[in-house]
Amino acid sequence: MPELPFLEVLAENLAASVSGRRIDALDVRQPALLMQAEPSPESFVGEFVSFPRRMGKYLVFETESCRVIVLHLMRFGRITVAPAGRRAAAVARGGSGEAPTPRNVSARIRFDDRSELRLIEHGTEKKARLWLADDVDSIPELGRLGPDPSRGELTLERFLESVHAAPRQLKTLLTDSAAVSGIGNGLSDEILFEAKLSPMKRTDQIDDAETARLHAAVLGVVERQVSLLRASAAGKLPKKEPVEHYAVHDHRGEPCPRCGTPIAWVSYADRDTFYCPGCQTGGVPLKDRRLSKLLK
Ligand SMILES: [Zn+2]
Repeated sequence: MPELPFLEVLAENLAASVSGRRIDALDVRQPALLMQAEPSPESFVGEFVSFPRRMGKYLVFETESCRVIVLHLMRFGRITVAPAGRRAAAVARGGSGEAPTPRNVSARIRFDDRSELRLIEHGTEKKARLWLADDVDSIPELGRLGPDPSRGELTLERFLESVHAAPRQLKTLLTDSAAVSGIGNGLSDEILFEAKLSPMKRTDQIDDAETARLHAAVLGVVERQVSLLRASAAGKLPKKEPVEHYAVHDHRGEPCPRCGTPIAWVSYADRDTFYCPGCQTGGVPLKDRRLSKLLK
């Protein structure tokens, strides 16, 4: 699932394609996508898009009149921009310029230069979400977002509040968007590796020094991953989560870059957790949630 660095770089690199463009059509092709009945997609026609930005794991397109189009890509949603050139060429050849839209396009915004922003969702399970609103404050999901680690909002004090709010596993804490916004499965593995803490250790089992280390790891990993992806995307829209920038996530069996122990993996619910048994769990492999509690 796209996380903070992916969406941050996506928003940055989308600016060149959408900022200052006038919306000629907003077409929602997957009815389940739309989270609110009002305002209507048609009411956005004629609006100019200002800079796209990221809030948590949401992509926000604000118009000049401060109305918003908000997207959550969930696991399989992706954004592409079909350039104006091909459509213009089709018109020149005597066609309408209306090339058939691929079936997996869930929504599209056509701009006045005839380019088109598309939300594509692969697979049969359609989970991406779209909100249209008259202002950003009327979307409750955005109001519930916790402090953003890349915007100077996640102070140690605020992090401590979340750590002490309820006893839960560190991985669960990091992926709770009310505690830290923008972090998912991949980044949480990287952060816990950086902090040398077990993903299944609980918030009521870590001391102040470990909490400070975890907080520093959140900020450090997020900053590093954003700059790595910004460099590798080189102005283009990122296509997939950059596993090549990760030390442990999706690197099962490979040697830990710090101690050489093979990276291990556990799976529960519907997510995979990668970690180094050598430097995160004291040499003890994690089996599953129940067993790991017995091991503590
Ligand atoms: Zn290690």
